[in-house]
Amino acid sequence: MEIINRRKRIASLTRKLRREDKIIGFVATMGALHKGHLSLVKKARQICDTVIVSVFVNPVQFNENEDFINYPRDLAIDAALLAKNDVDYVFAPDADEMYGENFSTFVTVDDISDKLEGASRPGHFRGVATIVAMLFTIIKPHFAIFGQKDAQQIAVIKRMVANLGFETEIVVIPIVREKTGLAMSSRNERLDNNERQAASVLYRSLTGAKTAVEGGEQSASRIAEIVRNEIETEPLADIDYIAVVDETTLEPIVRVDKNNVLVVVAARFGKIRLIDNILLRGRR
Ligand code: AMP
Repeated sequence: MEIINRRKRIASLTRKLRREDKIIGFVATMGALHKGHLSLVKKARQICDTVIVSVFVNPVQFNENEDFINYPRDLAIDAALLAKNDVDYVFAPDADEMYGENFSTFVTVDDISDKLEGASRPGHFRGVATIVAMLFTIIKPHFAIFGQKDAQQIAVIKRMVANLGFETEIVVIPIVREKTGLAMSSRNERLDNNERQAASVLYRSLTGAKTAVEGGEQSASRIAEIVRNEIETEPLADIDYIAVVDETTLEPIVRVDKNNVLVVVAARFGKIRLIDNILLRGRR
């Protein structure tokens, strides 16, 4: 496995791979890797000849500088984990390499970027769309693998790919969870023991909603109520939002009578804000 820091080097390398007809799989991460990230890597390994993982804490997607500064960084540990998981190349540029002199071009995906997570984190998806567009342009992967954990991020990236004509196919992988049901996240490490235990209420609340839908419930407001009631049993949880939305447009749904409907939630446990979601009908 080779670690590459320069845009020019990864661009010329992937040019060569394409000339050799290699199928390139790409996983974008901010490091602090866990089993969720590794499931994306595994998928890339299954469907591609060459697997490239980026490790880059993207300053432009953080709206709180403190969060950016505190984001865990340990490239040596991440690289060892990626080498063990058969990754071919790690792209780990520094911020200057990506946003050097005269950087002033941003990608904004209107409408869907401003709701839900976007409302709580202004500018976040502009930062995400910009870095993903840059990485896709430099690497030109055939497949890029993303996690269902960040459902709104998927909607934003799929929209960007369709609108701007990127030739990368987006592959989505199910949420990897801890035994308690808590969705894996680098933020979980910043929860204390009580908060971490309490945070399992999110998944319980979402499975409660799915069970109700399987039992015939179609009213989105009643489904949201089921989720709220369950989360409110947990005194350490502070709800930010609960929404029943179309997974592509993120528009609110009134009746759950079709397949692509998500319940998305965000809640704080102490200082840490967590997100989770579930597809109400069908499997992923
Ligand atoms: P991040 O490093 O947080 O930017 O995440 C990089 C990628 O890993 C994104 O596509 C995330 O959706 C995905 N990811 C993060 N946590 C999980 C999880 N628990 N299960 C599946 N995918 C995940």
